[in-house]
Amino acid sequence: MRTALFPGTFDPITEGHLDIIRRGLKIFDRVIVAVARGVHKETLFSLDERKELVEASLADAPLAEVEGAGPDWARDKVSVVEFDGLLVDLADRMQVDVIIRGLRFVSDFEYEFQLALMNRQLNRRVETMFLMPSARYSFLNASIVREVARLGGDVSALVPRPVAARLAKRYRTGGSS
Ligand code: ADP
Repeated sequence: MRTALFPGTFDPITEGHLDIIRRGLKIFDRVIVAVARGVHKETLFSLDERKELVEASLADAPLAEVEGAGPDWARDKVSVVEFDGLLVDLADRMQVDVIIRGLRFVSDFEYEFQLALMNRQLNRRVETMFLMPSARYSFLNASIVREVARLGGDVSALVPRPVAARLAKRYRTGGSS
């Protein structure tokens, strides 16, 4: 059974993250989404909210369509955990040896390369694998989503429904919850 860890801040989860999870499910039997406490970053949503939004989005979004498989087959393959501290320690605790990360454009590369090499230095057992999202999400990041939502723009095509609703509530620009 091959399992991959998909770590991030997920502040909030976007369609770009879901795209990477779907691609991960093509390669791995299970994907564990690891939501970082993220003390190095000031987050819009608390750790509990970010985790809850990941769970609600996974429950809401079609993760994969496979002929003959029930609509929920992929959902059973994704779990969500929170973590604090070193990612490689989490990988050890969960006995996972692959980390997946999304690679959008050239600007991601330098940071991701550094991070992957540092993680390898810390733990030689763990490999990092990069997956490219659909071109339509390659410009997308959570901070742009937060900024557009803050200014009252429509982000519904960029984030799962539970996130769009939560952002609308947060910024009081309408929305269903
Ligand atoms: P971090 O705080 O570690 O940068 P993020 O929550 O921003 O975490 O992202 C987690 C992972 O998801 C990273 O590998 C990032 O490259 C990837 N990611 C974020 N947005 C997208 C996107 N639109 N398409 C593909 N990958 C993405």
